[in-house]
This record gives sequence, C-alpha cells and structure tokens, in this order.
Amino acid sequence: MLDALQRPLGSLRISVTDRCNLRCRYCMPEDDYVWLPRTSILTFEEIARLSSVFASQGVRKVRLTGGEPLLRHDLPTLVGMLARDARIEDLSLTTNGLLLAKQAAVLRAAGLMRVTVSLDTLRPERMLAFAKSPRHADVLAGIAAARAAGFGSLKLNTVVIRGFNDDELADLIEFARARDAEVRFIEYMDVGGATRWSMDQVVSQRDMLETLGRRYGRIEPVAGDPHAPAERFRLADGATFGIIASTTAPFCRTCDRSRVTADGTWFLCLYAERGVDLRDPLRRGASDAELAALIRETWLGRADRGAEQRLALADRGALYRIDSLRADPHREMHTRGG
Ligand code: SF4
Repeated sequence: MLDALQRPLGSLRISVTDRCNLRCRYCMPEDDYVWLPRTSILTFEEIARLSSVFASQGVRKVRLTGGEPLLRHDLPTLVGMLARDARIEDLSLTTNGLLLAKQAAVLRAAGLMRVTVSLDTLRPERMLAFAKSPRHADVLAGIAAARAAGFGSLKLNTVVIRGFNDDELADLIEFARARDAEVRFIEYMDVGGATRWSMDQVVSQRDMLETLGRRYGRIEPVAGDPHAPAERFRLADGATFGIIASTTAPFCRTCDRSRVTADGTWFLCLYAERGVDLRDPLRRGASDAELAALIRETWLGRADRGAEQRLALADRGALYRIDSLRADPHREMHTRGG
C-alpha cells in the first residue's frame, strides 16, 4: 500500500506512555507539562489489536516508544502479545535505559528483538546538567544488560548539540565498539518540545563527518535499507556508525514511518499538525475491516514531508512555543514518540 508519494506503510512506532523520567533539553526542557488523561491511554489489548490491523495493511516493523516506554507497567506482557504476530518481522524498543538493567532479559524472553538506548554523553555531570538526572550509571548498566540479554542488535542514539556533546563523537564510537553496539548520531531537530532549538546549535552531518575524518581518516558510506532513517558509515578500521540527518538532509522521500500515540492518535509525520483518532472507533466497537479501511484511506492520501518543508524555510526557529504545546500535548515529541 503506497501513499501519495509512493511510500509504503512499513514501519509503525507505538508510544505506550507520554511520561518520561528524564528532562532532556532537546525534548522536555520545561518545568511542567500537560499529560494525556489516564482514561485515554490504550490498554495492551487495544494496542495489540491496532498493531494487528496495521500488520494486515503491510506494517512489518513495530517499535515501542514513549515518553519512556519502560515506565509502562508490565511492558513485557505487551511485547509478548505483539511478538505472537508472525507478520511483525522486527519488534524493537527505544529507551533512555534508566530502567533497562532490570528488564532487559525478560523483554528478550518475551520476544523483543532489538533495543536502542539513548546515550547523549559519557560524562555523568553533563547528563545531570542536560537531562536533570544523576543516574548515568543506570544507563550504562542498562546497556550492559541489553548486551548480555542477546538482542539481535544494540544501537545507541546520541542527539548531537553544539557546545554540549559535540566533542564526544569519537569517544562514543569507541564506547559502542567496545560493546559490540552501533552509535547513531542524530542532528538536533526542531520538533515539538524543542522549545529552545536554534540552527546554530545543530551539528550537521557534514560537520560530524569532517570531525570524525580528522580523527579516523577515510570514512565510507555503507549501503543499507533505503527506508532506514540513518545513513551508515564505516571507518577504515571497520567500525560502523550511523547519522540521522533529519535537520540538514531530510529523508522524507523514503519515509515509511508513522506513529501512534499512547492515546491512539495516529500521526503520519513527526511534524504533522493533526493526527487521526483511532481510539474512538476502536472503543465504539469498529470491526477490524472498518479500522483497516480507515487506515488504508488515510495512508493513500498521505503527502507529508515535514522535515523537507522545514528545510525550505528561510527563517527557521522552534516549531512551537510553549503555550501552543500546552494547548495540545499531542504536539510534543515525548507524546508522539520521536
Ligand atoms: S519529517 Fe515526516 S515525512 Fe519526513 S522523514 Fe520525518 S516523519 Fe517522515
């Protein structure tokens, strides 16, 4: 099933909570937030039903996100329910790692295939200043537990911000290499929630490659999945890493991803102003065929290419001001599942 720009419905990110136990400056920099009402949060049965209907329409990759997904009570039970669907070929999780050490083995046993852990810095004092958390050691313990649990792949996501962690690129590559993981550097994005974004804090893919080239010498691109957000690269010594250049070199033309929030709102683009309410038909008793028809009709009309449109702006600043985010928490990246 192809959208209006010939992109398949392939990958679904399901947010299981809008809550988070970190306050990273690029995502949740404010002092307080408006949360989704608890009664609106989808149950595991509702999530599994939606996932199944999406799978019937072509989705083959499901990633659980948040907020911080491990804050959702008993997440391995949901993983087990989703893993039973043989049509889902890739079931993964993105986490900040704080609670991963205790759950990694049980998540793997439940059928989770891959894990991505956010790791923005190797320096605890920087995490304290940047994410308002003293728990850097817990993140490292989570990464170690994920490695020990035997996931198919372990990725580390680093949002690179000028003046904060742009001097740690090589250190992070070496950290990942030592743990048989792969780091992916993400350009700082002007998405909802990033109320303090400015272009001068963005370290572009080109800048990152120049910095790493000075340290490591020749860097070669690695061919891979055309729908994957990260471009992968290989150093002369064999180590690989990825860069997600959403801000300066967007990849909307190949984007097969969409997002369901914890309250069942379906967003076709990270930058979309509005989403489609799937919870209401679900709770009113819509049949699978009716839900599938709604998904199909919506996807066929999709023409979103938010990051490309942002790139074309002459004067680019934060996407939303805080009052606009408070008026509708669906605009927040921690609700949408970045
Ligand atoms: S901006 Fe929207 S269309 Fe472009 S890659 Fe991101 S989610 Fe996909």
